[in-house]
Amino acid sequence: MVPARRLLRGLLYGSRYDRVPWGQRVYVRPGERLLREAQWRWRIRRAPVTSLAEYGSELPLGEIEEFLSCMMCGESRQQPLFEPTGAGKGGNGSTWRYHVVRCPSCGFLYRNPNIRPERLGDLYSSGYSGFLTGTYAANRQRRYNLTMQAFSPVLDDGEGRRLLDFGCGVGLFLELAEQRGFDGYGVDLSPDSVAQANARLKRARAYFGAPQEVPEIAAGGFDVITLWSVLAHLPRPLEDFATFRELLAPGGVLLILTVNAQSLLLKAYGSAWSGFTKNHLMFYSADTLKTLLRRTGFEGVAYAPHYGDTVEAGTTRLFEPLRRRLRQAVEASDGGNMMRALAFADEEAIARWGDRLTIHRLRDRAAEPDGRDLTDTNLTAT
Ligand SMILES: [Zn+2]
Repeated sequence: MVPARRLLRGLLYGSRYDRVPWGQRVYVRPGERLLREAQWRWRIRRAPVTSLAEYGSELPLGEIEEFLSCMMCGESRQQPLFEPTGAGKGGNGSTWRYHVVRCPSCGFLYRNPNIRPERLGDLYSSGYSGFLTGTYAANRQRRYNLTMQAFSPVLDDGEGRRLLDFGCGVGLFLELAEQRGFDGYGVDLSPDSVAQANARLKRARAYFGAPQEVPEIAAGGFDVITLWSVLAHLPRPLEDFATFRELLAPGGVLLILTVNAQSLLLKAYGSAWSGFTKNHLMFYSADTLKTLLRRTGFEGVAYAPHYGDTVEAGTTRLFEPLRRRLRQAVEASDGGNMMRALAFADEEAIARWGDRLTIHRLRDRAAEPDGRDLTDTNLTAT
């Protein structure tokens, strides 16, 4: 099977794409996109749809785990799609195994069984902060800057604006935020990380615990809330987003970076996809993120494509014609392996930034009695 596939690939492409990294081939090889989309549709058609009871009866349930229905639409039936395996990030070389299912009604992807919210801290026990420093730190800060640039000018100037970084880790983003003049606050579940953040920061402050438990944060009035690679880690996203909405000031925005559940790389790699990691509990696409935002009271959302870290940083060795092809493929298909989104709390936020960004509205402003859905109407430059 494998030699046959290799032979076919040789006939189709020769050695032209041999030096293109795997993560970029999916976007630059002609025909690959259509093939992966077809493969995905086939995978979904083939996967059985089972009741939650039936699904749960066949799997062992760990002490910190629980079975879930779809958090986005309430559907209890499951389509088991993936069984990712990998080496634990704790560095002890242990392997772990879990299941990712698809909601047959709305397409949401999530880990099932999931992690009980009160046991979430178990995933971030000591040692996690070590993973957040070193060369990882430099790459992270570059990624933050590129993402802020993608939504410029919203995060350009922080003077006189309150910012909350939810899941702030060791404070790498808060450091950039205070340099831009923001009045920065952070919360995190790892006490080690919070201590390291406060050692790093000058004016901004990090706190251990939930936002409601910290008076300075519970007071709200935030102009910006950021979720850097945090969304996929949340076991109760609806509750958390309702809290974010309350904490935002009029005109406030919520910035999100997360793995993209409609990524072509997910479709190509399946269970071996890089987004399936031990701590990732739920996987959002542009569509399922809209559902989450709509249900928690946000008015609009804008997306920015992600071309991959090396392309964005200008360090890729891809030749210019292929780079152009990659950009076009990302824009025309999945939006990239990571999803970057900026959510707008209210009309005031949309009015403030809407002339610079393409905003998808999340509800019908006229609130017509027949409930006509104007959800995906683009608000273009005025
Ligand atoms: Zn659903």
